[in-house]
Amino acid sequence: MGSRCCSRTACKHPPVYTLTYVYRDSTAVLGPLAAYVEPHCYDLCEKHAARLTAPRGWDVVRLPVEPAGDRADDLEALANAVMETPPPRRAEKEPVGQGVEVGRRGHLRVLRSGPPEDR
Ligand SMILES: [Zn+2]
Repeated sequence: MGSRCCSRTACKHPPVYTLTYVYRDSTAVLGPLAAYVEPHCYDLCEKHAARLTAPRGWDVVRLPVEPAGDRADDLEALANAVMETPPPRRAEKEPVGQGVEVGRRGHLRVLRSGPPEDR
């Protein structure tokens, strides 16, 4: 991604739709942006897709495409949800009271009460 842009001459807008000409059915299908660039497919930006008109004798089929705005909102909501999640390393900050760590065995800590006296 990133290297693709609207196939209309001199248009630098990012493509949102892919237009596919189905010659057999004389139909131009305007759908979501295709993952791969294929022959007879043309990427179109929002503006040029809206202006699209079919050649004489052709039909245009517009497939439902999620509006870009909704996707952005979803991403923002997802980002907010992630930020509200408490950090997963919380366990390491648990208070251990007066215990003094004297050793570790796997994920277990061996604790002994009171301050270290012989250190
Ligand atoms: Zn364009």
